[in-house]
Formats: sequence, structure tokens, C-alpha cells
Amino acid sequence: MIGAYVVSLSFFICFNIIAGTAAHRDGRKVALSVSKLLFVTILPMAANIVLVLTRREMVTRLGFVLFFIGTDWMLLAIYRFIMDYCNYPYEGSRNRTIWIVIMGIDTLSVFLNPLLHHVFDVTPDYMADGRMIYKLVSLWYHKVHLAINALVMVIALLYLIRKITETSRVYLEKYFFILVVMLVTGAWEFYTIFGNFHVDLSILGYGVGSVLIYFISLQYQMYLLTDRMLTNVVGSMGDALFCFDSDGKCIFYNDSAREMFRLPNKRSMEKAEAIMGEMFDPDILYSKDRGKNTAHLFSDDRVVSVEFSSVYDERMTYTGYYILVEDVTEENQRLAEETYKATHDSLTGIYNREELYRLTEKLIREHPEERYTVVVSDIKEFKMINDIFGSEVGDEILIKLADKVKAGLKEGDIFGRIGADKYGLILKSKDFNPEQFTEGTRTVAYVKDQDSYPLVVHLGVYEVRNSKLSAAGMYDRAFIALSTVKNELQQRIAFYDDSLREGILWEQKIVATLDDALKNGDIVPYLQAQVNTAGKTEGCEALVRWNHATEGFLTPGRFMPILEKNGMVVKIDMYIWEYACRILKRWKEEGRKDMYISVNISQKDFYFVDVYEVIYGLVQKYDVDPALLRLEITESTFIKDMDRKIEVINQLREKGFLLEMDDFGSGYSSLNMLKDMPVDVLKVDMLFLSKTENEGRTRAILELIIGLAKRLEIPVISEGVEEAEQVAFLTEMGCDMFQGYYFAKPISPAEFEERFMKKDAAV
Ligand code: C2E
Ligand code: MG
Ligand code: MG
Repeated sequence: MIGAYVVSLSFFICFNIIAGTAAHRDGRKVALSVSKLLFVTILPMAANIVLVLTRREMVTRLGFVLFFIGTDWMLLAIYRFIMDYCNYPYEGSRNRTIWIVIMGIDTLSVFLNPLLHHVFDVTPDYMADGRMIYKLVSLWYHKVHLAINALVMVIALLYLIRKITETSRVYLEKYFFILVVMLVTGAWEFYTIFGNFHVDLSILGYGVGSVLIYFISLQYQMYLLTDRMLTNVVGSMGDALFCFDSDGKCIFYNDSAREMFRLPNKRSMEKAEAIMGEMFDPDILYSKDRGKNTAHLFSDDRVVSVEFSSVYDERMTYTGYYILVEDVTEENQRLAEETYKATHDSLTGIYNREELYRLTEKLIREHPEERYTVVVSDIKEFKMINDIFGSEVGDEILIKLADKVKAGLKEGDIFGRIGADKYGLILKSKDFNPEQFTEGTRTVAYVKDQDSYPLVVHLGVYEVRNSKLSAAGMYDRAFIALSTVKNELQQRIAFYDDSLREGILWEQKIVATLDDALKNGDIVPYLQAQVNTAGKTEGCEALVRWNHATEGFLTPGRFMPILEKNGMVVKIDMYIWEYACRILKRWKEEGRKDMYISVNISQKDFYFVDVYEVIYGLVQKYDVDPALLRLEITESTFIKDMDRKIEVINQLREKGFLLEMDDFGSGYSSLNMLKDMPVDVLKVDMLFLSKTENEGRTRAILELIIGLAKRLEIPVISEGVEEAEQVAFLTEMGCDMFQGYYFAKPISPAEFEERFMKKDAAV
């Protein structure tokens, strides 16, 4: 019996050393307190072995001292373990300090027993087999010691019970097992204390207890807990879950599944199977290789995403499958809203530019056999409408216009807002009716308080010929067409053709290269002789030529209209005027003081520079006679702002300049104009010399003009004289001078000088 007891205690000691070391290595907070408990329990166990084996009184006394002290610290270790296990504060707490002080005093008190004789005494006793041992005689302090031990144990138990009442039911197992261990250990303690055994067997209970604590707290996998936890997670999750066994029988579905598929409250596996069977193809349901799969279902306007997944055990044996159904209605709605926002114009609700372009390209890609037409629109002076009526009215107009177009759309047409007041539409060419569209634009108006403000809407049209073109390229072409009419009031629609685009590219090239050309001297005046009736060259006209770096030799017709349009012509004119002055100065220095040069003045020059200042400044700078720098102004220049321009001309004339009225008869001129105009020379347009059907009538007008000029004593130069016969009848009519290919084409100044300015030069 004693032998078995000693062996079991030795076993526990060994176990505690090994398990205590392992727990210490584990490192978790709870593991450390378990490790401490295991190590501390070794002391009372070892003391107990000594007590059982010894027959000496002194050793027995020492054994009891160590045993009592050991139980003190072992119980405190149990207390500490409970606190850590329940996650109550212990380390660093006041509780801990109090208990250490109590246990310290108790330890001291036990130590002082040989002096004070208050804890215990020993007395010889004989065991059943006749063996003598010393038995404990309990003195008054021993009761105190036991009370302290009981107290720490009871408080630890109370903490444990408190935890059990506080915590979720799923943790019951975790704490309940420990509680049972402690209660059994406690009961064993009572039993041994009051059982009056020869030796104190209580420690055996603690040995067993500490082993159990070690296993329960550190080694035992709480399957029940994990199981409950997972069931709870699965049960409360928002997605519907159905689990099927390997035979396809439904074995579980969660609450969400019940709600989503309106299954009865009572678990009804057959119903679940039936619903799944109705919803999914048996091939999917009963195939083992289904893996993961997603599908979208529409039922009751709800959108769900379904995932099928086969389940295999650790030996890869098929054990069944589950179906996870996620309600993605909200997500889909949100996604749809986001997509809508990203693809639609917030003001009008039609497609935005990116989407219009994307859908346009898609449409053309998907229907290569169909012919499509792209139409863009632009509201004339829309900015002004915004400024005058306010942007709210501007918005209202934009919405109305969009609605109007929307109402007329056919299936397959794509309509969107490209920017500000610009809309774009693509439709089948066979559905496009230009008259109808133009008519539509005429009815757009902003109506306020019975007043109607008609809006001018221009349309640009591009029939898609090159389907490889990007949508941006297609709409751009329509806008190019639109730009040709955007200043018109009557014409509201324009069609794109390739020359338009080329024209625009050409324009861009001219504008972009002008400055460099002026700097590099690529722009030069050519001179065309002006000859009198005697055949003598009296002067010449400076006509600009451009030796373009990439485009070669350009006559004014190729670039002047472009530069006229945007005002850049002034740069060329000023350059030519100065060039002419330099030539005149050189001629003067060379002794040719009689030859004049006529320069052209564009009507735009009057807007951009002070023509008087510039021209008078130049003759002063180069010290040339103003009478030798003749000024050609076309009659159309005087249509606008006539008075101001006349004033400038008069200022110049006062300084001695002569004014030639260029292209007379070509524009809107009336003979009446001559009476007010400060004209020194009349240049009759070459139009009158061209071969026309009504040659007789033309000649009559020409005769009239020349005759009138004569009466007004204004000399006349005829332009475009190409034949001797023309010279003859013009001379007869009274024309004073001629300019034309018959005499000379415009030629470089060097050539001109060579031909007309040598002493012996002949025509
Ligand atoms: P313009 O001032 O009426 O110049 C006369 C135009 O008639 C010149 O054309 C000249 O080459 C052309 N011409 C002269 N004789 C004949 C002929 O017998 N038959 C034919 N078919 N044409 C003849 P060009 O040089 O092409 O200049 C065209 C226009 O460009 C000029 O008409 C003028 O309005 C403008 N221009 C030329 N140089 C300048 C310039 O430096 N400044 C400004 N503002 N305009 C210029
Ligand atoms: Mg001219
Ligand atoms: Mg002319």
C-alpha cells in the first residue's frame, strides 16, 4: 500500500517535471501558470514521500514543515491558474500582493513551529503492518493554516463559478471541467483531512488534479466548443447554406437558408432538397466534380450568387457538398447605381461622352454591314444664354433639348452629351433625314412668360465610312463639319467630307508654321509690273509668296484666306510693307526714285494695328517718299466701320500716300461709293476681263466704270490683262494703266529689277 502510494507520487513528480517544462516552453499566459502549478506541486508531493518513508522524528518534522509550506504555494498557484484561465486580472493586481503576504506569513509561521510549537507536534504511531511512523498532532495554528488553504481554494472556486455564470454557454465545457476537477480535489482533501489516515493523502488529489488541469487547459481540443462555435457562426451568417451528404441528401441548412427560401420553421430536409432540385440542373447537383461554381438567379427580384462546393475528407474521399447562396441584390443595385453614374450625364440623364464613344464603337464593331451616321449639335451663343438668363435656365434648355432628341430616338440609336452644349448621336444612315433634323433644330426655343427666345442649333454630320476610326475621330469629324456653319444663322446643318478635314489640317499647319517662316525669310514679296499705255513700267504690286519648308512654293490663295480669318494676316502685311520700304530705300540709293510699289492692306489690319502709325512709321524709318509706297485696299474693306477707316486713309493721304481701290467691281461696291471714297487710283477687278457668256454686258459695265472714273478724274488700272486685244480695247475705253500676265507675272524682286529697272530695260 505504502509502496503503491510512493510510486504514484513519484510518477506525478516525474510527470510534473516533464509537463511543467513543456508548459513553460508553450509560453502562453495560461501555460505559464500551469507550469508554475506543476512545479510547485512537486514540493508537497516530495515532502509527503519523505513523511511516508521516514522513521525519524526530526525528518518527519522537517517533512511537515515543507509539506505545509508546499501546500500554501501550491494552492496559490491554483488560484493564479484560475485567474489566468478565466482571464481575470492577477499579475500586478492587489489581490496577488495580499495573497503573497498571507502565504508569506503562513510560511514564516510554519517555519517558527520548532520555536513556538503552535502548528503541529508529532507522535509515534503504528501502521497496520506494525511499521512505526510519526503522526501529526494538529495544534491551534494548524487550523489557521488549513483555513487559509481552504479560503484560497474557495475564492478560486468562486471566481470560476462567476466566470461560468458570466460567459456564453458555448464555453461551459471549458470552465466546467476545471470546476469538476477542483471540486473533486477539494472533496478528496476534506475526506483525507477528516478521514484520520496515518499519512496525509490529500496531496494525491492535487497530483491528479494538476495532471488533469494540464490536460484540460493545454492539451484537450475542445471539439464541442469548436463545433458549437461553428454551428453558431454558420447558423447566424447572412448567406444561406445547405449541406448535402455524399448521397445528395440534405443534412443541414441554416436560418438564412430557411428565410431566403421560405422553408418551414421545422427543419425539413426533403423540402430543401426539392427546392434545390427545382432550382439547379441535376448535372450540377449530383456531379462530384462540380468544384466551385457561381451562378446568378433571379427570383422575387432578388439576385443571388450561388456557390457549389464539393467536400472531401483528409483521405480525399468525397463526403458531400454544400451550396452557399449569397443575396447580392443590394450589392448589385449599388453596382448598377455606380455604373449608371459613371456612364450617364448627371444633368440630362443621357449617356456621357465616354459611354457614348464606347457604345458607338461597340455598335459599329457589332454591325459591320450597317451604315451609320454620326450627328453632333451645338447651341449658338450658349455661353451668352447662360450669362443673360443664368445657368439654371441654361440647364433647363439643355435638358429640354436632350428630351426632345430622346423622344425621337429609334431603337438602337445612341445619344449622349459630349460636353457643355454639345450632344452626339449615332443612328443608322437609312434613318437619318437631314430635313427633319434641320426642321427639328428650328423649333428649339426657350419660352419664358409668353416670350419665346428661339435658339440656333447647328448640326454637324459625318457618315461613317471608315469603321476603323475611333469614336472620338468620328464625332470630331462631325464637329469639323459643324464648325463650317457655326456662325451662320440660316444654314443649320453641314456635312463632313474629307476635304474639310484636310482643310482644317492645312489651316493648322499654316498657322503653326507662320512665325518660323517669317523669321527664316521664307516669306517674300513678288513684284508684278504696272504698265502705262505707252508700255512703260511705272511701278509694281508686291504680292506675297511663301517658300514653305515642307509644302514648297505657295501663292497667297493657299494661305491668305486662313490668316485673314484669324487675323494673323497682319503679321504678313507688316512684314511685306517693311520689305517694300527696304526695296524702295535701296532703289532710292541706286538712283531709281520714280518706281513705286503698291502694297496690299487687309481689312483685318485695321483691327489689329494702327495702320497709320505703322505705315507712316515705316516710310520715316527707311526715309522713303510716301508717294512711292502705294496702298491697295479692297472695296470690301469699307463695308464695315467705313468712317474710321476713311479717317485713317485720309491721314495717310495727307502724308502723301496714294490709295488704290483694289478689286473694284468685284464685291458689293456701288458706284455711289466713289463719291465719298478718298481714292487716288481705281483698280478694276480682273473679273471684267474673264470670258463670260455675257461678254457684251460685262464690257459695257467696264466701259461705264472707266468712264465714270475718268469723269471723277481718278486714274484706272486694269487687273488681269492677259491679251493684246484687251490692252487695245481698254486703252480705247480710257484705261490708264495695266497689270497682268500679258506684261509680266509676279516675279522675284531680283528678276523684276533685272527686267524692268536696267537703264535699257524694255517691256
Ligand atoms: P490682288 O491684290 O488683286 O492681286 C492681284 C492678283 O491677280 C495676284 O494674285 C496676281 O498674281 C493676279 N494676277 C495678276 N495678273 C493676272 C493675270 O493676267 N491673270 C490672272 N489670272 N491673274 C493675274 P496673287 O498673287 O495670287 O494674289 C492674290 C491675292 O492675294 C491678291 O489679290 C491680294 O488680295 C492677296 N495678296 C497678295 N499679297 C498680299 C499681301 O501681301 N497682303 C495682303 N493683304 N493680301 C495680299
Ligand atoms: Mg492687290
Ligand atoms: Mg486685285
